[in-house]
Amino acid sequence: MSWGQWANIAVHQRYMQPVKTRRRCWCGCKTRATHTGFANGLAMTAPMCELAARRWVKTGDVPTKRRVG
Ligand SMILES: [Zn+2]
Repeated sequence: MSWGQWANIAVHQRYMQPVKTRRRCWCGCKTRATHTGFANGLAMTAPMCELAARRWVKTGDVPTKRRVG
């Protein structure tokens, strides 16, 4: 994923979708990941907890510096 595509996230609407996974959230909350961030029909984040997903939808920021891709 290029930085140019990330810039597009600021243009396209972000939203979150529930996902079924047994993975842990990676934001550090130690709960199960329940949501993934989408933009323009594409998954933009790794599965994460609802709180982290809400924050991403609102700000476009991830809880850590780590990003997918
Ligand atoms: Zn979390």
